[in-house]
Amino acid sequence: MQYDLIIRHAQLHRHDGLVDIATKDGHFASIVGELPSDSSATREIDAAGRLVVPPFIDAHVHLDAVLTVGRPRYNTTGTLLEGIQIWSELKPGLSREDVKKRALEEIRWEVAQGTLHIRSHVDVCDPNLTALRALLEVREEVRDICNLQLVAFPQDGILSFPNGRELMRQAMELGCDVVGGIPHYEWTRDMGVEDVHYAFALAREFNRDIDCHCDETDDPISRFTEVMAADTIQQGWQGRVTASHCTAMHSYDNAYAFKLIRLLARAQVNVVANPFDNVVLQGRFDTYPKRRGITRVKELLVAGVNVALGHDSIMDPWFPLGKGDMLAAAQLALFLCHMSGYDEINAVLDLITTNAARTLRVQDSYGIEEGKPADFLVLDAPSAFEALRLVPARLHVFKSGREVAYTTPGKSVIKRQTDQEGEEVTFRLKP
Ligand SMILES: [Zn+2]
Repeated sequence: MQYDLIIRHAQLHRHDGLVDIATKDGHFASIVGELPSDSSATREIDAAGRLVVPPFIDAHVHLDAVLTVGRPRYNTTGTLLEGIQIWSELKPGLSREDVKKRALEEIRWEVAQGTLHIRSHVDVCDPNLTALRALLEVREEVRDICNLQLVAFPQDGILSFPNGRELMRQAMELGCDVVGGIPHYEWTRDMGVEDVHYAFALAREFNRDIDCHCDETDDPISRFTEVMAADTIQQGWQGRVTASHCTAMHSYDNAYAFKLIRLLARAQVNVVANPFDNVVLQGRFDTYPKRRGITRVKELLVAGVNVALGHDSIMDPWFPLGKGDMLAAAQLALFLCHMSGYDEINAVLDLITTNAARTLRVQDSYGIEEGKPADFLVLDAPSAFEALRLVPARLHVFKSGREVAYTTPGKSVIKRQTDQEGEEVTFRLKP
């Protein structure tokens, strides 16, 4: 049999034994222990026992703000509120060209590190919707390397910002994929509840999914995630709704968190945590002990809630660092959420792969299965455990059977006084 591509001796996640993977016409054609001896392909790669996984997914990022760090000034306190202030100073001067250039560059960073699906929130609290118009163009221009979803995101509120409702509607008319919201940021509790109701009304009108920034605060009485869950059940939107951040859940008393988590599971609401921003931005009013701020990822997973991760910020007013690496985000979540048990480490890989695919609702065309599009990565590690320990190179990144990125890993060598040639350090246990 003649194929386009064969990956030999690949290790799949949660699978015993190695497999050969063959692709044809952009799809997985055969995944078997060993391909018949008459199988050949235009290109063959020997994975040599390395882990082959579906592409990483960034379920929450802000492509309109990425790579703006220092413009017009650096965040001196490091807080969320100063970040929003700096962003409001920068926003009026944004041009379509500037937004496009930065977003395209950041997408290149993510794709090079194996992320082929990105859900970006776009601030629509701008009478001209400049960033949105730019990112709608970007969404089309990157289709060969990345699937981009855009969320209409009201950074300054739907009810607390002039013409907020109308701007959200315009954003959906222009072609946003998902309706956003920001209930905890509205001026009052009542306005926050209305923020959620309005997101659901728009979602029904345009037949779209919902992804609200929700309860992104340490305030334990910020309780809008429950409103999202209740609206989901009442509107029949199960599986189509995502609550992002939910950091207040970190600080709820356990009895209320227990009730809420059960409600989220029942409503099939997805939760997205953003480990970099959450740990850096939350806990800022604390002295000691300082809260980590991230939502209860481990407990949500145990209760059957679908949890995924986002990078959120990359070199912007809220988080000055980062390089768009979702595997690094997953490693940080592992630390912050105490998910270092052996099975938990395996589950952490799901947060940036299969769980995130459910959140973006791309699961029907996602995964290493015969018949599905041949989207996958070859990691320079033999297992999820090793991938999360090493955060290794993404050696090959394939989309629809075409290589869209590759990385040549670095090499470290120790030179002893008696051995000037030196010996390579692999950072692996020696057998
Ligand atoms: Zn965000």
